[in-house]
Amino acid sequence: MMRPCGKGFVLILSAPSGAGKSTLARVLDERHIGLLKSVSTTTRQPRPGEMEGEAYFFVDVAHFQERIAAGEFLEWAEVFGNYYGTSRRFVAEALGRGDVVILDIDWQGARQVRGNMESADVVSVFIMPPSRDHLAERLRARGQDAPEVIARRMEAAAAEASHWDEYDYIVVNDDLARAGEELAAIVSVERLRRCRAEWRLRGILESFAL
Ligand code: ADP
Ligand code: 5GP
Repeated sequence: MMRPCGKGFVLILSAPSGAGKSTLARVLDERHIGLLKSVSTTTRQPRPGEMEGEAYFFVDVAHFQERIAAGEFLEWAEVFGNYYGTSRRFVAEALGRGDVVILDIDWQGARQVRGNMESADVVSVFIMPPSRDHLAERLRARGQDAPEVIARRMEAAAAEASHWDEYDYIVVNDDLARAGEELAAIVSVERLRRCRAEWRLRGILESFAL
């Protein structure tokens, strides 16, 4: 018998910046399939329209370092010169309730989560843009970052993309609706894994006196 895993799991989404992770996370959210988005803490400046506690919790570097020292992060990393981290407590509480939690984190964070959690509780998806040119166009079209910030993100894109083969699933975000369908399908099949069946089968098995 396979070791029962939790009803919930973390769904890691990684991608080169601008590939459409936030957009896809929103598309998934709109499907109301019972997913919870983990809100990271960052030292980056808010973009126009980003709300405290929705996009991120925005803190200064000293505060972030105190929280690292206190062991409050399940994972943290420096990305594009800013710190980003995931709350250990938020994820533990969500998994305790059986929720599926989306982590929008980079490859360094994904590695730490795989190292810090049971492998059955971690599902990772790498999102690829259709090409480098599409990525550059999307970063420009987003219109929220200064040209030098965009240039830095394009320089880092190949480095992030090179980690695609560390992930369980790969989704190419060419057509947004199709990529959203594919992500939702991943969530569905992962929920159907035998190791999570105990939660759904309890009543059925009891009816067979099993
Ligand atoms: P990320 O969170 O990966 O940095 P965003 O979700 O902010 O990227 O997307 C970057 C830009 O690309 C946004 O302007 C978004 O509207 C656009 N975008 C996302 N997915 C697609 C797609 N499939 N086709 C065209 N544009 C897209
Ligand atoms: P952005 O500044 O565009 O919101 O995010 C930049 C990069 O940081 C993205 O690749 C995003 O996935 C990553 N990121 C956001 N939050 C976290 C986090 O909590 N941990 C890690 N490791 N990366 C994060």
